[in-house]
Amino acid sequence: MTKRSAITIYLSLIFALLALVAGWYIASFLNREPDSVSFDSSRAYADVQTQVAFGPRTPGSAGHAQVREWMRTELESAGWIVEIHESERLGHPIYNLIAKRSDEAPQIILGAHYDTRFFADNDPDESKRTEPVPGANDGASGVAVLLELARSLPDDTVPVWLVFFDTEDNGRIAGWDWILGSRAFAEEITVQPQAVVIVDMIGDADLNIYLEKNSDVAIRTEIWTTAAELGYGNVFINEEKHSMLDDHTPFLEKNIPAVDIIDFDYEYWHTTHDTLDKISPASLQAVGDTLWHWIAE
Ligand SMILES: [Zn+2]
Repeated sequence: MTKRSAITIYLSLIFALLALVAGWYIASFLNREPDSVSFDSSRAYADVQTQVAFGPRTPGSAGHAQVREWMRTELESAGWIVEIHESERLGHPIYNLIAKRSDEAPQIILGAHYDTRFFADNDPDESKRTEPVPGANDGASGVAVLLELARSLPDDTVPVWLVFFDTEDNGRIAGWDWILGSRAFAEEITVQPQAVVIVDMIGDADLNIYLEKNSDVAIRTEIWTTAAELGYGNVFINEEKHSMLDDHTPFLEKNIPAVDIIDFDYEYWHTTHDTLDKISPASLQAVGDTLWHWIAE
Protein backbone atom coordinates (compact mmCIF):
# COMPACT_ATOMS: atom_id res chain seq x y z
CA MET A 1 0.00 0.00 0.00
CA THR A 2 1.40 3.39 -0.94
CA LYS A 3 1.15 6.38 1.31
CA ARG A 4 -1.15 7.96 -1.22
CA SER A 5 -3.66 5.09 -1.30
CA ALA A 6 -3.70 5.02 2.51
CA ILE A 7 -4.72 8.69 2.50
CA THR A 8 -7.38 7.93 -0.11
CA ILE A 9 -8.81 5.17 2.09
CA TYR A 10 -8.79 7.46 5.14
CA LEU A 11 -10.53 10.20 3.17
CA SER A 12 -13.13 7.80 1.79
CA LEU A 13 -13.77 6.49 5.30
CA ILE A 14 -14.24 10.02 6.59
CA PHE A 15 -16.59 10.84 3.71
CA ALA A 16 -18.53 7.62 4.26
CA LEU A 17 -18.89 8.49 7.95
CA LEU A 18 -19.99 12.03 7.10
CA ALA A 19 -22.51 10.70 4.57
CA LEU A 20 -23.85 8.29 7.21
CA VAL A 21 -24.27 11.05 9.79
CA ALA A 22 -25.90 13.36 7.23
CA GLY A 23 -28.19 10.56 6.08
CA TRP A 24 -29.19 9.75 9.64
CA TYR A 25 -29.83 13.42 10.35
CA ILE A 26 -31.99 13.85 7.23
CA ALA A 27 -33.89 10.62 7.94
CA SER A 28 -34.60 11.63 11.52
CA PHE A 29 -35.70 15.05 10.29
CA LEU A 30 -38.11 13.50 7.77
CA ASN A 31 -39.43 10.94 10.25
CA ARG A 32 -39.89 13.33 13.12
CA GLU A 33 -43.30 13.61 14.72
CA PRO A 34 -45.37 16.45 13.29
CA ASP A 35 -44.98 19.53 15.46
CA SER A 36 -47.66 18.83 18.07
CA VAL A 37 -47.54 22.33 19.48
CA SER A 38 -49.07 24.19 16.59
CA PHE A 39 -52.64 24.81 15.52
CA ASP A 40 -53.64 22.49 12.68
CA SER A 41 -56.61 23.84 10.73
CA SER A 42 -57.14 20.56 8.87
CA ARG A 43 -58.11 18.96 12.18
CA ALA A 44 -60.27 21.96 13.06
CA TYR A 45 -61.99 21.75 9.68
CA ALA A 46 -62.67 18.03 10.29
CA ASP A 47 -64.25 19.06 13.61
CA VAL A 48 -66.65 21.37 11.76
CA GLN A 49 -67.47 18.52 9.39
CA THR A 50 -68.17 16.14 12.30
CA GLN A 51 -70.48 18.60 14.02
CA VAL A 52 -72.46 19.35 10.87
CA ALA A 53 -72.80 15.58 10.29
CA PHE A 54 -74.55 15.26 13.69
CA GLY A 55 -77.36 17.34 12.18
CA PRO A 56 -78.78 20.42 13.90
CA ARG A 57 -77.57 20.79 17.52
CA THR A 58 -80.75 22.51 18.71
CA PRO A 59 -81.39 22.18 22.47
CA GLY A 60 -82.90 18.81 23.31
CA SER A 61 -82.18 17.24 19.91
CA ALA A 62 -80.18 14.04 19.30
CA GLY A 63 -77.40 16.10 17.66
CA HIS A 64 -77.21 18.32 20.73
CA ALA A 65 -76.54 15.33 23.02
CA GLN A 66 -74.21 13.68 20.49
CA VAL A 67 -72.03 16.75 19.99
CA ARG A 68 -71.62 17.09 23.76
CA GLU A 69 -70.50 13.47 24.17
CA TRP A 70 -68.15 13.81 21.21
CA MET A 71 -66.60 17.01 22.58
CA ARG A 72 -66.04 15.25 25.91
CA THR A 73 -64.24 12.37 24.17
CA GLU A 74 -62.07 14.71 22.08
CA LEU A 75 -61.11 16.82 25.10
CA GLU A 76 -60.38 13.87 27.36
CA SER A 77 -58.18 12.22 24.76
CA ALA A 78 -56.27 15.53 24.52
CA GLY A 79 -55.65 15.32 28.28
CA TRP A 80 -58.30 17.74 29.56
CA ILE A 81 -60.62 17.18 32.52
CA VAL A 82 -64.24 17.68 31.51
CA GLU A 83 -67.09 18.80 33.74
CA ILE A 84 -70.68 19.62 32.88
CA HIS A 85 -72.12 22.75 34.43
CA GLU A 86 -75.85 21.99 34.67
CA SER A 87 -78.43 24.67 35.16
CA GLU A 88 -81.83 25.81 34.00
CA ARG A 89 -83.10 29.01 32.43
CA LEU A 90 -86.67 29.83 31.33
CA GLY A 91 -87.57 26.23 32.20
CA HIS A 92 -84.97 24.77 29.81
CA PRO A 93 -82.14 22.53 30.99
CA ILE A 94 -78.65 23.90 30.29
CA TYR A 95 -75.49 21.87 29.89
CA ASN A 96 -72.32 23.94 29.61
CA LEU A 97 -69.21 21.87 29.14
CA ILE A 98 -66.05 23.00 30.98
CA ALA A 99 -62.59 21.65 30.09
CA LYS A 100 -59.56 22.32 32.31
CA ARG A 101 -56.09 20.86 32.78
CA SER A 102 -55.68 21.36 36.52
CA ASP A 103 -57.54 22.46 39.65
CA GLU A 104 -56.01 25.92 39.39
CA ALA A 105 -58.42 28.81 38.89
CA PRO A 106 -58.46 29.92 35.25
CA GLN A 107 -56.64 33.08 34.20
CA ILE A 108 -58.18 32.81 30.76
CA ILE A 109 -61.53 31.39 29.73
CA LEU A 110 -62.08 30.70 26.03
CA GLY A 111 -65.71 30.16 25.07
CA ALA A 112 -67.83 29.14 22.09
CA HIS A 113 -71.45 28.06 21.81
CA TYR A 114 -72.14 24.52 20.63
CA ASP A 115 -75.90 24.77 20.14
CA THR A 116 -77.57 25.80 16.90
CA ARG A 117 -80.69 27.82 16.23
CA PHE A 118 -84.15 26.22 15.99
CA PHE A 119 -85.26 28.29 12.99
CA ALA A 120 -83.51 29.60 9.89
CA ASP A 121 -85.68 32.71 10.08
CA ASN A 122 -83.39 34.74 7.80
CA ASP A 123 -83.62 32.25 4.95
CA PRO A 124 -84.31 33.93 1.59
CA ASP A 125 -86.79 31.11 0.89
CA GLU A 126 -89.78 31.74 3.14
CA SER A 127 -90.75 28.05 3.15
CA LYS A 128 -87.44 27.17 4.82
CA ARG A 129 -87.69 29.61 7.69
CA THR A 130 -89.05 26.97 10.08
CA GLU A 131 -86.14 24.61 9.39
CA PRO A 132 -83.20 24.49 11.80
CA VAL A 133 -79.88 26.23 11.04
CA PRO A 134 -77.10 23.74 10.09
CA GLY A 135 -74.67 25.96 12.01
CA ALA A 136 -71.39 25.19 10.22
CA ASN A 137 -70.22 28.72 10.97
CA ASP A 138 -72.72 29.75 13.66
CA GLY A 139 -71.76 27.19 16.28
CA ALA A 140 -69.43 24.59 14.80
CA SER A 141 -66.56 26.93 13.78
CA GLY A 142 -65.97 28.28 17.29
CA VAL A 143 -66.17 24.81 18.84
CA ALA A 144 -63.67 23.53 16.27
CA VAL A 145 -61.13 26.25 17.11
CA LEU A 146 -61.44 25.50 20.83
CA LEU A 147 -61.03 21.74 20.31
CA GLU A 148 -57.92 22.20 18.18
CA LEU A 149 -56.49 24.56 20.80
CA ALA A 150 -57.14 21.80 23.36
CA ARG A 151 -54.96 19.47 21.27
CA SER A 152 -52.19 21.94 20.46
CA LEU A 153 -51.69 24.36 23.37
CA PRO A 154 -48.44 23.72 25.26
CA ASP A 155 -48.84 22.17 28.72
CA ASP A 156 -47.19 25.05 30.54
CA THR A 157 -49.53 27.93 29.65
CA VAL A 158 -51.31 29.98 32.31
CA PRO A 159 -54.40 28.10 33.56
CA VAL A 160 -57.00 28.05 30.79
CA TRP A 161 -60.57 26.82 30.79
CA LEU A 162 -62.32 26.00 27.53
CA VAL A 163 -66.06 26.45 27.94
CA PHE A 164 -68.59 25.19 25.42
CA PHE A 165 -71.77 27.15 26.02
CA ASP A 166 -75.23 25.74 25.57
CA THR A 167 -78.37 27.58 24.34
CA GLU A 168 -76.82 30.74 22.94
CA ASP A 169 -78.77 31.04 19.76
CA ASN A 170 -82.53 31.06 20.31
CA GLY A 171 -83.38 34.69 20.91
CA ARG A 172 -86.54 36.15 19.38
CA ILE A 173 -88.25 32.75 19.71
CA ALA A 174 -91.21 32.46 22.13
CA GLY A 175 -90.15 30.93 25.46
CA TRP A 176 -86.42 31.30 24.73
CA ASP A 177 -83.75 33.98 24.75
CA TRP A 178 -80.17 34.55 23.59
CA ILE A 179 -77.09 33.55 25.64
CA LEU A 180 -78.90 31.46 28.26
CA GLY A 181 -75.95 29.12 28.75
CA SER A 182 -73.25 31.76 29.25
CA ARG A 183 -75.62 33.76 31.45
CA ALA A 184 -76.14 30.76 33.75
CA PHE A 185 -72.39 30.09 33.74
CA ALA A 186 -71.33 33.67 34.52
CA GLU A 187 -73.99 34.00 37.24
CA GLU A 188 -73.25 30.69 38.97
CA ILE A 189 -69.51 30.22 38.65
CA THR A 190 -67.34 31.90 41.29
CA VAL A 191 -64.00 32.09 39.45
CA GLN A 192 -62.60 35.49 38.44
CA PRO A 193 -60.60 35.06 35.23
CA GLN A 194 -58.47 37.92 33.95
CA ALA A 195 -59.85 37.48 30.45
CA VAL A 196 -62.79 35.81 28.75
CA VAL A 197 -62.54 35.45 24.98
CA ILE A 198 -65.48 34.23 22.91
CA VAL A 199 -65.14 32.94 19.35
CA ASP A 200 -68.29 32.84 17.24
CA MET A 201 -68.83 32.73 13.45
CA ILE A 202 -65.14 32.78 12.60
CA GLY A 203 -64.99 30.10 9.89
CA ASP A 204 -66.33 31.72 6.74
CA ALA A 205 -64.03 31.96 3.75
CA ASP A 206 -64.34 35.74 3.53
CA LEU A 207 -63.25 36.42 7.09
CA ASN A 208 -63.24 40.04 8.32
CA ILE A 209 -63.17 40.32 12.08
CA TYR A 210 -63.70 43.89 13.20
CA LEU A 211 -63.18 45.10 16.75
CA GLU A 212 -66.41 44.48 18.65
CA LYS A 213 -67.51 47.65 20.42
CA ASN A 214 -68.43 46.25 23.86
CA SER A 215 -65.24 44.18 24.17
CA ASP A 216 -62.52 44.99 26.71
CA VAL A 217 -60.18 47.40 24.94
CA ALA A 218 -56.87 46.23 26.49
CA ILE A 219 -57.42 42.53 25.72
CA ARG A 220 -58.84 43.20 22.29
CA THR A 221 -55.75 45.29 21.48
CA GLU A 222 -53.44 42.48 22.63
CA ILE A 223 -55.22 39.93 20.43
CA TRP A 224 -55.38 42.18 17.34
CA THR A 225 -51.68 43.03 17.79
CA THR A 226 -50.80 39.32 17.99
CA ALA A 227 -52.79 38.71 14.82
CA ALA A 228 -51.00 41.53 12.98
CA GLU A 229 -47.60 40.19 14.05
CA LEU A 230 -48.53 36.78 12.64
CA GLY A 231 -49.56 38.33 9.31
CA TYR A 232 -53.33 38.14 9.87
CA GLY A 233 -53.89 41.89 9.75
CA ASN A 234 -56.18 41.39 6.75
CA VAL A 235 -58.45 39.15 8.88
CA PHE A 236 -58.33 40.97 12.22
CA ILE A 237 -59.23 44.44 11.05
CA ASN A 238 -58.22 47.20 13.40
CA GLU A 239 -61.51 49.13 13.21
CA GLU A 240 -64.67 48.98 15.30
CA LYS A 241 -67.84 47.87 13.57
CA HIS A 242 -70.56 45.88 15.35
CA SER A 243 -71.89 45.97 18.86
CA MET A 244 -72.90 42.46 19.87
CA LEU A 245 -75.00 40.71 22.46
CA ASP A 246 -73.08 37.44 22.66
CA ASP A 247 -71.59 35.04 25.21
CA HIS A 248 -69.14 37.74 26.37
CA THR A 249 -72.01 39.97 27.61
CA PRO A 250 -72.78 38.20 30.92
CA PHE A 251 -69.09 38.43 31.87
CA LEU A 252 -68.89 42.14 31.06
CA GLU A 253 -71.96 42.63 33.25
CA LYS A 254 -69.96 41.06 36.11
CA ASN A 255 -67.00 43.37 35.39
CA ILE A 256 -64.92 40.49 34.04
CA PRO A 257 -62.89 41.69 31.02
CA ALA A 258 -64.28 39.93 27.96
CA VAL A 259 -63.85 40.05 24.20
CA ASP A 260 -66.03 38.79 21.36
CA ILE A 261 -64.18 37.59 18.26
CA ILE A 262 -66.89 37.47 15.61
CA ASP A 263 -67.34 38.20 11.91
CA PHE A 264 -70.92 39.35 11.87
CA ASP A 265 -70.91 40.12 8.12
CA TYR A 266 -72.03 36.66 7.08
CA GLU A 267 -74.78 36.54 4.52
CA TYR A 268 -75.81 32.99 5.49
CA TRP A 269 -76.46 33.93 9.13
CA HIS A 270 -79.55 32.10 10.44
CA THR A 271 -80.30 30.55 7.06
CA THR A 272 -80.28 26.93 5.85
CA HIS A 273 -77.17 27.89 3.83
CA ASP A 274 -74.89 28.06 6.89
CA THR A 275 -73.21 24.87 5.64
CA LEU A 276 -69.77 23.24 5.45
CA ASP A 277 -68.96 24.64 1.99
CA LYS A 278 -68.90 28.18 3.47
CA ILE A 279 -66.07 27.22 5.86
CA SER A 280 -62.41 27.75 5.05
CA PRO A 281 -59.51 26.06 6.90
CA ALA A 282 -57.45 29.24 6.36
CA SER A 283 -59.99 31.22 8.41
CA LEU A 284 -59.93 28.67 11.25
CA GLN A 285 -56.12 28.83 11.08
CA ALA A 286 -55.98 32.63 11.36
CA VAL A 287 -58.13 32.64 14.50
CA GLY A 288 -56.66 29.49 16.06
CA ASP A 289 -53.07 30.53 15.43
CA THR A 290 -53.69 34.00 16.85
CA LEU A 291 -55.26 32.66 20.05
CA TRP A 292 -52.56 29.99 20.35
CA HIS A 293 -49.82 32.64 20.31
CA TRP A 294 -51.73 35.07 22.49
CA ILE A 295 -52.13 32.36 25.18
CA ALA A 296 -48.76 30.61 24.82
CA GLU A 297 -46.72 33.81 24.75
ZN1 LIG B 1 -76.58 32.54 15.72
